[in-house]
Amino acid sequence: MKGILIENGEDGYHARVADIDEAQMPAGDVVVNIAHSSLNYKDALAITGKAPVVRTFPMIPGIDFAGVIESSESETFAVGDSVLLNGWGLGETRWGGLAAKARVKAEWLVRLPDAFDSRDAMAIGTAGYTAMLCVTALAEGDVRPGDGEVIVSGASGGVGSIAILLLARRGYRVVALTGRSEQTEYLRSLGAAEVLDSGAFSAKGKPLARERWAGAVDTTGGMILANICASIRYGGTVAACGLALSMDFPTTVAPFILRGITLVGIDSVYASIERRRTAWTTLASELDPTSLRQVTKQVALTEAVEGATQLLERKIHGRIVVDVEASK
Ligand code: NDP
Repeated sequence: MKGILIENGEDGYHARVADIDEAQMPAGDVVVNIAHSSLNYKDALAITGKAPVVRTFPMIPGIDFAGVIESSESETFAVGDSVLLNGWGLGETRWGGLAAKARVKAEWLVRLPDAFDSRDAMAIGTAGYTAMLCVTALAEGDVRPGDGEVIVSGASGGVGSIAILLLARRGYRVVALTGRSEQTEYLRSLGAAEVLDSGAFSAKGKPLARERWAGAVDTTGGMILANICASIRYGGTVAACGLALSMDFPTTVAPFILRGITLVGIDSVYASIERRRTAWTTLASELDPTSLRQVTKQVALTEAVEGATQLLERKIHGRIVVDVEASK
């Protein structure tokens, strides 16, 4: 089968489209014929080798996919069922979705919601499903649309773009934080009421600043997250899912103990199957597939390697869907 293969041998770390022996697929009770996958930040790190995402070699990257079951030893899924998968170590510790097929455990799969085809599902992908987990965390933190503004950092990226769509649809006043002023019109078209320059959030600020945000979705970490926390209103909630700027978190306990704010960590990779099903069901009811078009660029498997570099260089906004079906 065709797929992207990452090797790390005597000639160094490299990713290329290769013919891969299906018999080498890892153990599992279901084989999925993949129609679409996507490029997420973690995939870009894996393909370029910019961070040690890949734990064993050779590796097929791709932390998500959508497709149709080709063979099944599971009682839950039958041949012909449409499914999707996010995380569970795919593309890190076991072969992932940037290939024609994947053999996986049936318990990791979510049924494709009727509202979406496989392309829509991967336009959302792990980034959009994570955005949904973040928005859910704000709701669970009792941040309501009438409570004030919600800020989204890394706004032009995959998680940020879909978080804006979801929050705006729920009636929040969304403020987008971006380092790319040229994306202002794009961010407004998603539903951002205001667009701010993330440069102003990158320098060390006060432990407590003027209270502004009722809630936040943070994809960047580092000083941006610290400055957001310093401006969260009394009792507000921050959903932190990313480290696009930094793994550091240079803050103080002041916003936590003086304003009672909550920082919720979001992990999509090993989230329970119940939480995943709920996230995808909510995405299906709240996200209009046509709204995904403005967020999405589609590439062939052969273009995904180059796409990874462009994603890390911030030359792409929104989501990249990989049309695996067309590349077979
Ligand atoms: P993208 O590359 O699509 O978007 C990341 C965005 O972050 C960029 O578009 C940019 O937004 C901003 N950004 C990038 N570099 C910097 C920088 N040096 N300083 C400030 N801002 C920066 O990635 P995704 O949206 O797919 O993922 C975002 C983050 O969330 C990543 O760290 C990813 O690993 C993480 N993630 C975590 C998950 C989890 O389970 N916890 C699941 C999915 C993603 P702009 O140009 O608008 O400033």
